[in-house]
Amino acid sequence: MMLTRDHSAQRRVEIPADGSAIVEARGKARERLQAAIPERYSPWLHLAASTGVGVLALTVGLIGLRAPRAVDYLAIPITFLLSNLFEWWAHKDLLHRRIKPFQELYDRHTPEHHMVFGYDDMAVRNWKELRLVLIPAFGVAGIVVMMAPIAFALSRLFNPNVGWLFLITSALYVVGYELSHLSYHLPPDSFIGRLALVRVLREQHRRHHHPRLMQKWNFNVTIPIGDFLHRTMVPKDVLEKTLEQDRAES
Ligand SMILES: [Zn+2]
Ligand SMILES: [Zn+2]
Repeated sequence: MMLTRDHSAQRRVEIPADGSAIVEARGKARERLQAAIPERYSPWLHLAASTGVGVLALTVGLIGLRAPRAVDYLAIPITFLLSNLFEWWAHKDLLHRRIKPFQELYDRHTPEHHMVFGYDDMAVRNWKELRLVLIPAFGVAGIVVMMAPIAFALSRLFNPNVGWLFLITSALYVVGYELSHLSYHLPPDSFIGRLALVRVLREQHRRHHHPRLMQKWNFNVTIPIGDFLHRTMVPKDVLEKTLEQDRAES
């Protein structure tokens, strides 16, 4: 049994690390969480609403842009890099620690998402399980709304084009996070699951889903820039030792 201590709430989340126990625990969690999905839940509406937030931000942003200068476009790579570092930090410190007032984020991620999907069992079994992978659409919208004051400040500090480019890039980044995460949890033999880029990035995320590795390694879900800079990409020998341990216990 693998115990991961949640320091903030002094609560322990139990995710078994050994073979038979994890299969049983995952099965039970899946059953419980599937039963909790409301009858009226539509995975397509969920996906459309989340993606729609990005399309809306892009549309509003493009309308707001006024002949940007070449230097204004620097806002795009800088925002992308900062979003990647924010993703790394939020996953490590908000999704894997139960900190007020973000307990809901933790609860949806560590005891639910990680409990259902594991290193050897990453794929959704049906479309309704998108609810166990995607952030609620209002959460995606909430993140974009939180970015608005920063965009406003940048528009005052530099010029409105920089503010709009920041807003567009950060909104599309969140949608990109959602879609890439979803692609790793689709069946590996599906059209999307077979794409070369998805295969490479899924392997990174899959390692993060191992109960013995999840608290320490591979916190980026998109491109592992933050993991590279913070040296949190799981090293080969650590992965091999972990898998060896699994084999010895099964
Ligand atoms: Zn995942
Ligand atoms: Zn995680």
